[in-house]
Amino acid sequence: MEKIILFSLIPVLAISVFETGAADKNLPGYTDTPVIPGQKWRVHDANRPRPKVVKAGPSKTLGMKPPKGAVVLFDGTDTSQWSHNKWKVEKGYMEVTRGSGQLKTKQKFGSIKLHLEFATPKEVKGSSQGRGNSGVFFCGQYEVQVLDSYNNISYADGQCAAIYGQHPPRVNACRPPGEWQTYDIEFRAPKFGKDGKVTRAAVLTVIHNGVKVHDQRELIGPSGHKSVKSYKKHGPGSIGLQDHGNPMRFRNIWVVELKD
Ligand code: MG
Repeated sequence: MEKIILFSLIPVLAISVFETGAADKNLPGYTDTPVIPGQKWRVHDANRPRPKVVKAGPSKTLGMKPPKGAVVLFDGTDTSQWSHNKWKVEKGYMEVTRGSGQLKTKQKFGSIKLHLEFATPKEVKGSSQGRGNSGVFFCGQYEVQVLDSYNNISYADGQCAAIYGQHPPRVNACRPPGEWQTYDIEFRAPKFGKDGKVTRAAVLTVIHNGVKVHDQRELIGPSGHKSVKSYKKHGPGSIGLQDHGNPMRFRNIWVVELKD
């Protein structure tokens, strides 16, 4: 008799856990952050489904030459376009030096097409957001996440190629640690009215290792950690590469400015 009661309770318990959205203890993320406007998920929601893993690359745009008129930001040796030179430069790439701070372009940009190549550390250390973390910031405030998401579960809106804290990529197209990967990104800067209110949201299209993972995705506002931020009027801004303490590598970075 007791056994019957016990077994009949199991499905009820399972359903109640599902319905309350209680996080599996093993899943990284949060259950107490703000709800993302227009979505049913919270920022960095531990329960948000992780994008499907696809086998991608090697990318056809690896080593792609900058087209005529492009602004070359890093050609393998020259760091003069950037705010500091504290990152290690060798063998055609630059590598994050822990604690040196974000690299920012001296030149400010609005809407652009960006090509960039990156590699997460071959020696795998840490987990979730602690593994191979960096990021590409547009206008200094809209982040496309860089992370080692190869066999590394994190919250969906913080994994590699996520628009951080807002939109997970459509699929997980990561290459293994140590391998070169590509981002081909189109960023449309937001527009603002005279009253300072946003009249057109920022828009991102992201191609990761040849796979389109965001198609003209509208941003809710600037990227925030565990928070939702609102647009504040701004003009062109720096492109930033994040120092998140991991020895991430970057190479072959160039942009084409877009008329808007
Ligand atoms: Mg990051």
